[in-house]
Amino acid sequence: MTGVARDTSPGDAATRLADIRRRIGMAAREAGRDPRDVTLIAVSKTFGEADILPLIEAGQRVFGENRVQEAAAKWPTLRARFSGLELHLIGPLQTNKLDDALALFDVFHTLDREKLALALVKAREKGRALPRLFVQVNTGEEAQKAGIAPQEADGFISRCREEWKLEIEGLMCIPPVGEEPALHFALLEKIARRNGLSKLSMGMSSDFETAVRLGATHVRVGSALFGVRG
Ligand SMILES: *Cc1c(COP(=O)(O)O)cnc(C)c1O
Repeated sequence: MTGVARDTSPGDAATRLADIRRRIGMAAREAGRDPRDVTLIAVSKTFGEADILPLIEAGQRVFGENRVQEAAAKWPTLRARFSGLELHLIGPLQTNKLDDALALFDVFHTLDREKLALALVKAREKGRALPRLFVQVNTGEEAQKAGIAPQEADGFISRCREEWKLEIEGLMCIPPVGEEPALHFALLEKIARRNGLSKLSMGMSSDFETAVRLGATHVRVGSALFGVRG
């Protein structure tokens, strides 16, 4: 193993990974859920290959990135070397980067507006395979944050399905900083349930156990796995 970065040894990465998995398992069992129904997305944004490799070698296969260009610089070579990698886009997507994003990502968590839905439809008409899709809901109704407003979510989801024939797998949210995340997770779960959606992308390093107790099927964990971002 070469290319060990900073103070992060491969053993440390494996230990952190095992610890996060153990905590996910405990939270799931506490809630009467099967831990296998929770997918851990290792959020590798800002981290390079030297930090990512130890996690891959420890068995992690699902990763998340928030920028298309950064992902394009890191992941094609890793994908060529390791089988079974799954890449999730968890950051906002500009339609002019859609082609690149389609080439890179298996899942988009940030379908958040009509313009992007229409661009996906157009890509499909050109023969592109579409990724699995999560609709991002702006549960805190924050002006600076992406996502569909909670009161508009039902309408947007049904337009995705009926008008645009986009298969929606689930919902995603990022609770406002400083607010009780459980309220936002519960709101997201409620919107998903009434729309017949079974997948929930919610919970980060500081609150993933709460998210799992409230039904998260995908937790997005960065700093607890990789260390603090520089
Ligand atoms: C960075 C990021 C995460 C991971 O955050 P941590 O607090 O480092 O776990 C999760 N979700 C999104 C959308 C992010 O941008």
